[in-house]
Formats: sequence, C-alpha cells, structure tokens
Amino acid sequence: MGAGTEGNGTAEKVRMVCSHCGSDEVTRDAWAAWDPQAQQWALRATFDYAFCHRCMTDARIEEVPC
Ligand SMILES: [Zn+2]
Repeated sequence: MGAGTEGNGTAEKVRMVCSHCGSDEVTRDAWAAWDPQAQQWALRATFDYAFCHRCMTDARIEEVPC
C-alpha cells in the first residue's frame, strides 16, 4: 500500500521481552547453518524454547512495540 518510506515494508518494529520481568535479555533455541556466500552463520530455524537472562530461567516471550 506504499505507506513505508524505508526498509522492506515492515510496518512497525517490535521488541521481544520476557513476559515475567519485561527485560529484552531473552534468547531462544535456534539452529544456525553456515552460509558460504556470506561467510557467517545464518539463522535456519527458531524453536519455542525461550530463556530470560535476567530471570535466569525459562521464559515466555512477548512481542511489544518499540
Ligand atoms: Zn525475565
């Protein structure tokens, strides 16, 4: 619809935060595969398991606007 002026059309940026403490120090299980063109590990898949480095335990991740 031509609303955006930059990037690839993503309307709003979001942050991923811990649903318990609100910290964005969260990570999740993922696979990285080697990309020989880019010479770096590229994200291949992400899984449901999430961890909060503030709570130091399993976390549920929430998506919030920036
Ligand atoms: Zn947390």
